[in-house]
Amino acid sequence: MFKSLLNLLYPGRCSVCNNLFFAEDQSFVCRSCIDKISPSEVSYCKSCGSPTENCQKCLKNRKYDYIKVFTSADKELVNIIAMYKLQSVKPLGKEISQKISEDIVEFVKREQVDLITFIPLTKKIYRERGFNHLEFILKNIFPSFLIKNVLLKKKETALQMDLSAEERIKNIKDAFSLNPEVEIEGKNVLIFDDILTTGSTMLEAYKTVKKGKPKKIFGYVICR
Ligand SMILES: [Zn+2]
Ligand SMILES: [Zn+2]
Repeated sequence: MFKSLLNLLYPGRCSVCNNLFFAEDQSFVCRSCIDKISPSEVSYCKSCGSPTENCQKCLKNRKYDYIKVFTSADKELVNIIAMYKLQSVKPLGKEISQKISEDIVEFVKREQVDLITFIPLTKKIYRERGFNHLEFILKNIFPSFLIKNVLLKKKETALQMDLSAEERIKNIKDAFSLNPEVEIEGKNVLIFDDILTTGSTMLEAYKTVKKGKPKKIFGYVICR
């Protein structure tokens, strides 16, 4: 009550568009910036996520059974995701969940996904943030029996976003191992991540999941 009164007297400034706004449950991003998050009109390559439908490099070398990109990585959306995960603003995670919910639920049903997993954090980052931002989004959308920790982070890596394409490949190589407590053999597994940049994190996750002999491997990313 006191907080909402304060908000009325002192509106916040949106970290994305810099306009003044009256905060509801978070004082970082205004409603109109959040409402710009919507499915992309662009067709992405189903095998690697590139923004082209007839992707030449995937003709010979198919990877994922289907990797789905929800939308393009506009500056605003990347900002919102960064604020959500780096500053642990959970209400922003809820907003993102609502925006992608219909699309990812439809994907999971259509492709008969048996379990959904996500890119794990290093132990150090997990301790600092107190939660995995990807797992939090999934839990807002799916019942918990569908969400499994298939991947474990076995080495401490630097933040991919701070590195060049070449450094990213090296940084993430052999970073994951399979969680022996989760059986994935013969199952349709979906790997969830927020931003696909060079694709090296997703690919490393794919390679690790493949060792568990699943039937199909899918990817779903919020943006690229
Ligand atoms: Zn705004
Ligand atoms: Zn491709």
